[in-house]
Amino acid sequence: MSEKAMARRRRYRQRHRRNTLATWVAGAACAAMLVFLAAMGCMDYVNKLPPPESSTFPGLALSETKQGTPDPTIQDSQPQEPSTVYEDGTDWNLRLVNRWNPIPEGYNVSLKELPGGEKVDERIYGPLTEMLEAAREGNWDELPRVISGYRTQEVQQELYDAEVNKYKSRGYSEEEAKAEAGKWVAVPGTSEHQLGLAVDVEGATYDVFIWLQENSYKYGFIFRYPGDKTDTTGTVEEVWHYRYVGVEAATEMYEQGLCLEEYLEKSG
Ligand SMILES: [Zn+2]
Repeated sequence: MSEKAMARRRRYRQRHRRNTLATWVAGAACAAMLVFLAAMGCMDYVNKLPPPESSTFPGLALSETKQGTPDPTIQDSQPQEPSTVYEDGTDWNLRLVNRWNPIPEGYNVSLKELPGGEKVDERIYGPLTEMLEAAREGNWDELPRVISGYRTQEVQQELYDAEVNKYKSRGYSEEEAKAEAGKWVAVPGTSEHQLGLAVDVEGATYDVFIWLQENSYKYGFIFRYPGDKTDTTGTVEEVWHYRYVGVEAATEMYEQGLCLEEYLEKSG
């Protein structure tokens, strides 16, 4: 082979290597972009959720259903001694609600309104506001917002029906639409939001979710639906959804990498 031919081949190989590298880098960038867009899409989706009923008078509007009949599951939000253990022996903060464990009938919750209008179980108001205040350091010094707190059965039903209809309009059968919708919106009666112990958080930057994953346990909250626990929790990853379980349980779950289902199974 001539000197010229060998030089040409060398140049070709170098170019080929560069091209391969460039393709790989571009591919990785595309993948990262897709993940980012997917995450933003989810946030968008959450942002579009209709706001739960709110009222200038905490607890007043929520104490009545749309038909005007009193809702027996809601008490007014007058401060009162919180019950710590249910009749069946479950600690209030460790109550398991997922697709296999619906919320108990006649579940009582005393609500307290957050700045912004969402409501939560009054027992988590303190730790929640403390956590959000501390989360400023992971959120460009802005206070993260709670975009969804307590939901009534009616609100959860509306969210679920809207999701089912979305899939039906895309040509899914009733059954398929329900199966698909159930991955994104909990079937009414099986959402932690109905406990008043869960919140969906929105920040100025995605970094706030990283901050929460590393620090929420100090305030008694857990990253409830990590992507690697979907089979156990029954819910796809939701980086914005945080659930109160108390500092002791949250710390143990954080340190041992357990989700709530695994923690409860382990502690019998
Ligand atoms: Zn949520």
